[in-house]
Amino acid sequence: MRKVISIANQKGGVGKTTTAINLSATLASAEKKTLLIDCDAQGNASSGVGIQRDKCQEKNLYYALINRVPLRDVIMPTCIPYLDVVAATQDLVGIEVEFASLEEREKQLKKLIRELDREYEFVILDCPPSLGFLTLNALVASSSVIVPLQCEYFAMEGLGHLMSTLKLVKTRLNPFLSLGGILLTMFDSRNLLSRRVSEDVRSHFGNHVFNTVIPRNVRLSESPSHGLPIIFYDIKSRGAVSYMELAQEVLNCKRI
Ligand code: ADP
Ligand code: MG
Repeated sequence: MRKVISIANQKGGVGKTTTAINLSATLASAEKKTLLIDCDAQGNASSGVGIQRDKCQEKNLYYALINRVPLRDVIMPTCIPYLDVVAATQDLVGIEVEFASLEEREKQLKKLIRELDREYEFVILDCPPSLGFLTLNALVASSSVIVPLQCEYFAMEGLGHLMSTLKLVKTRLNPFLSLGGILLTMFDSRNLLSRRVSEDVRSHFGNHVFNTVIPRNVRLSESPSHGLPIIFYDIKSRGAVSYMELAQEVLNCKRI
């Protein structure tokens, strides 16, 4: 069965896009046909897998939603085997307003994904830093959600709100949605605060926290500017190793 995974947290800068790019790439490297859908107008997931802005004028998520063309018409291949992408453009910012009076507005992305044939084993959705229209559409379309959490001060702030949104989506809109897991990101083992955040999160959420922890790793922050996921930029880096571990955990995770 196809697995649709949202990478969501309404906080910005917690590692959503980094996780969407690198989990997609590591799943693809395990020969799982994967589609990365960039749902953030900033388009960082698109550029992170090597898509140039001027190449996706009629091939992007906004174009598919507004013109009601099938997703397969806007899917682009990447230079990575087994990985395709639906890019995001700046126009996506306006979609919430443009769809304001549309019926079933929260189900638009789900409809597009449902039309895809069985070609993809994984669909990964990179959500924007808000709980607005696009994140809601992503959650409604998903079988599970991964929540990246930065190991910093105030890490858990806003998490309660996110969890109640997930519960609401599950009861009202998508009974199949499960919490795939919380992913600790930008972990620094030398930092007491990092270790404390990790302990706190594990004591609150128990086995819903991935064993894999993503370390703070400069190679991870460099790779997007080369349009490459970390495993194609520096396979030996700690960032690459941790995202390969995450892919294994995701492949074995019963909640996903
Ligand atoms: P979000 O999508 O949640 O806003 P990003 O994935 O864009 O977050 O990450 C925010 C910034 O932090 C980016 O500049 C990114 O390159 C950097 N970053 C993300 N994860 C790591 C990490 N594990 N180590 C170092 N830098 C990271
Ligand atoms: Mg992002």
